[in-house]
Amino acid sequence: MTGYKRVLLKLSGEVFGGGSVGVDPDVVQAIAREIASVAQAGVQIAVVTGGGNFFRGAELQQRGIDRVRADYMGMLGIVMNCLALQDFLEKLDVETRVQTAITMGQVAEPYIPRRAIRHMEKGRVVIFGAGMGMPFFSTDTVAAQRALEIKAEVVLMGKNGVDGVYTADPKIDPTATKLESLTFQDALQRGLRVADATAFALCMENKMPMIVFGMEPEGNILRAVQGERIGTLVSA
Ligand code: UDP
Repeated sequence: MTGYKRVLLKLSGEVFGGGSVGVDPDVVQAIAREIASVAQAGVQIAVVTGGGNFFRGAELQQRGIDRVRADYMGMLGIVMNCLALQDFLEKLDVETRVQTAITMGQVAEPYIPRRAIRHMEKGRVVIFGAGMGMPFFSTDTVAAQRALEIKAEVVLMGKNGVDGVYTADPKIDPTATKLESLTFQDALQRGLRVADATAFALCMENKMPMIVFGMEPEGNILRAVQGERIGTLVSA
């Protein structure tokens, strides 16, 4: 079992909301405990949070809000998740920095990749917020891009309600089975959706492995970081 030294964890907004709109502090506190255990094990960890528990641009567009403006609303929602996570981490005595792709000097640092690496080297957890700062992107893509830029060894995709990549959608097909591992090429050929298409392409082209795993039970983030085979490993 070989562990990782530097990881990028992607948590979708759903994880923060505990199934409803907004932030569920109990849920965020539990996530913070897990991330703290990773940092305290001496592993460098950066986090990309989603924002689907507040707004998704595409959904707001369907209800009449201009897509670009709706996407900016989505990105601002993401920052609230980052601040909640930062708060609970700091309460656990973990030093953190939030870096946002849209500058907002009063609440966070701007995204400066070399500084992010430096923070991680000092044992700080870096939380990347506001997505890519650009409409029409998703936070899966941000996770892939940030992982590449900060030279993480793996993207950890922590999921709610699903514990890996299945041969088919397990909610629709009861015969679907979970895959231990697969290549990016396999996923493409079998039409399996691992992440959004842009994120998938970035990881495939740049040989950045991904581990898709369930957030239940508590402790799974540390297990994945320490090299325990949980979820599904997708690699080149
Ligand atoms: N978003 C964006 N650009 C980005 C990242 C996110 O415009 O680089 C917006 C987009 O509207 C998206 C919302 O922010 O729907 C929330 O992000 P995402 O849907 O990726 O969150 P998740 O599904 O992971 O909770």
